Amino acid sequence: MRLFRCACHSGLSYWSNSARAPADVGGGASLPRTGGPVDASVLADLAAASRILADQGVVDAFGHVSMRHPHDPQRFLMSRSLAPALVTPDDIMEYDLNCDCVDAQGRGSFLERFIHGEIFRSRPDVMAVVHSHSPNVIPFGLVKTPMRAMFHNAAFVARGVPVFDIRDKFGATDMLVGNADKGVALAKVLDDKDIVLMRAHGSVATGPSLPVAVFRAVYTEMNARLQFQAAMLGGGGDIAALDADEGALADKVNLSSASRAWDLWKRRVGF
Ligand code: MN
Repeated sequence: MRLFRCACHSGLSYWSNSARAPADVGGGASLPRTGGPVDASVLADLAAASRILADQGVVDAFGHVSMRHPHDPQRFLMSRSLAPALVTPDDIMEYDLNCDCVDAQGRGSFLERFIHGEIFRSRPDVMAVVHSHSPNVIPFGLVKTPMRAMFHNAAFVARGVPVFDIRDKFGATDMLVGNADKGVALAKVLDDKDIVLMRAHGSVATGPSLPVAVFRAVYTEMNARLQFQAAMLGGGGDIAALDADEGALADKVNLSSASRAWDLWKRRVGF
């Protein structure tokens, strides 16, 4: 009997291909089928991403990062509910796009996993998603002043930064994107952009790879801080931010150079 390593498990157990749970077609109580085994280096990278975001001050006790399953676009990988700085490869679980876990084994899921599932569903180009409450970004979700790209590393900001106000569709809530309807509404506001702010809550950064999504989350926070400084320094006058053309040109460079930051940040967290 051929044995496959479960993509979302600690590695202590194996299951056979023939014993896979039935597909989740039509919903019901059956568990989703796995997208297949995932290389240990992928799980390590996702755990590293979580720790990098903590190390870089983007997440604290809260926030999370996910990536699309490398062999199945209908699945994604994400840690069990845990503070990001504590995540290890053994904590990574696999979900379908309804955010049902393939094999939870009693482990808890993040309430806001629907942010990830619905963005992966609506944006086939997105391969990784970061959700954070990084502090300098939050004011930009509260006021009318739009976030603009202060420097080349934050070039993606020049494409525009939509703000999701959960109140628009759902009235008074606990502010959390805790179900599929709220995830769909958030993904709709993100539209084709790279980041979206969430009023009185935080933000989401996306990317075509895990390193780029992490890069964008880190530089969204830094860009917010720099915009405060520029606004103060300029006495509220005009800010000579990157325009859309400059942003598009600089983002191309960032997409290829994000790996340098990734290598450095990964080293810092011991991966
Ligand atoms: Mn949140």
